[in-house]
Amino acid sequence: SRRYSFVVVANRLPVDRTDDGWTRSPGGLVSALEPIARGAHGAWVGWIGVPGDDVEPFEHDGVRLLPVQLSAEDVDRYYEGQSNSTIWPLFHHGVETPVHRRAWRVAYEEVNRRFADAAARVAAEGATVWVHDYQLLLVPAMLREARPDLRIGFFLHIPFPPVELFMQLPRRVDLLRGLLGADLVGFQQSLAAHNFLQLSARLLGLQPEGEQVRYDGRTVTARAFPISIDVGEIEKLAADHTVRAESRRLRRELGGDRTLLLGVDRLDYTKGIEQRIEAYGELLDDGTISNREAVLVQVATPSRMRVAQYQQLRERVEREVGRINGEFGDVGKAPVHYLFQSRTREELVALYLAADLMLVTPLRDGMNLVAKEYVAARSDERGALVLSEFTGAAEELPDAFQVNPYDTDDLERGIAAALRADPADLTARMRRMRAHIADHDVNRWAQEFLDALGR
Ligand code: UDP
Repeated sequence: SRRYSFVVVANRLPVDRTDDGWTRSPGGLVSALEPIARGAHGAWVGWIGVPGDDVEPFEHDGVRLLPVQLSAEDVDRYYEGQSNSTIWPLFHHGVETPVHRRAWRVAYEEVNRRFADAAARVAAEGATVWVHDYQLLLVPAMLREARPDLRIGFFLHIPFPPVELFMQLPRRVDLLRGLLGADLVGFQQSLAAHNFLQLSARLLGLQPEGEQVRYDGRTVTARAFPISIDVGEIEKLAADHTVRAESRRLRRELGGDRTLLLGVDRLDYTKGIEQRIEAYGELLDDGTISNREAVLVQVATPSRMRVAQYQQLRERVEREVGRINGEFGDVGKAPVHYLFQSRTREELVALYLAADLMLVTPLRDGMNLVAKEYVAARSDERGALVLSEFTGAAEELPDAFQVNPYDTDDLERGIAAALRADPADLTARMRRMRAHIADHDVNRWAQEFLDALGR
């Protein structure tokens, strides 16, 4: 059977099943990697997103897709368990308490082996293999063992925790060795690369020199490659007639002259949604904001609803929204419009264009693409971004109103400062942020990673 000189390995394949067959999944990562995979006549190893289905390899948009099958039990243990209930909270610096279960860890290793085997089978001699994210931390070493001829890159899309936190993980050294199987380990932030190198020193006694360590007779490089968005796609949507009409309609619906504050997040405990809504409530309470003059729209996209911590978060958020609307609302005029719904990219861009203030206040976030999309959408150079300093995006966007979301006073100060800012100041800030994003889109990110891996 055919072998490929470029192989992507990710938890998910870049397609979703719809009524008319397979369509490309939305999002910048897929739109950046698919053309590269197509240009290289490459292959992509991943799960189709539905448990149990046995799908044969197929061709999509010039890329060979190689489905990895997961049973319902694999999804419980590898995906919802070890990936999303152990590694996700721990890597987000423990903002929720990670859960440790032996059976999850075992399943994680088994499933990682399945991905590594699939990639090892289809990679050509000397091929480049690019492995993605926290679901597949063991894959680089497994792949290296089976295929020492390969050039292996790994990119972590989420944060990498400080040494002391990583040390809590059962079998922590296996996970570290897993990553060290790669030639290049990419992170969102320089802090994450630093944490990784320190961990290598602590657990294995390796001695980092700059951004490199020697391990097992090879050199492993750890470096930040901040991911970005498909700027062209967002700009096109922001110029679209229908999107612009929808944006005007939203403003009319919400009361044309009210200042619109916007939050767009998956409903996830890393996103700081509760803290944000609480701060908004306090600003209403102390009169900094009045319900006549301002309104908050919070899109909270359903996510991982089978995991208990997410159900509990939903209940807490909805109780707080209800309390604020009850206390500060009026007939026909609610201070918070809470949407527990998924929105299309067209709908999101219409919201970005309508929003005076974008609130991106995660407790911890690898990057946060919503912040970058908001900036890319604002070709009018208006609007303001309130941004948590604990996002990857903060490292790149010093012109946002940066806040510490754990400090309610600071959060309120940041929101109030953005509300009161001089329009000329806002335009100057937006212009600088837009220049940065325009110059650092997702294609550049992918190219820089692959260039570094090729060297
Ligand atoms: N998104 C979307 N519909 C929604 C909510 C989010 O299409 O209802 C998109 C959003 O435009 C962005 C991505 O999902 O591209 C979220 O990326 P981000 O880095 O902000 O957070 P993540 O969900 O990956 O933690």
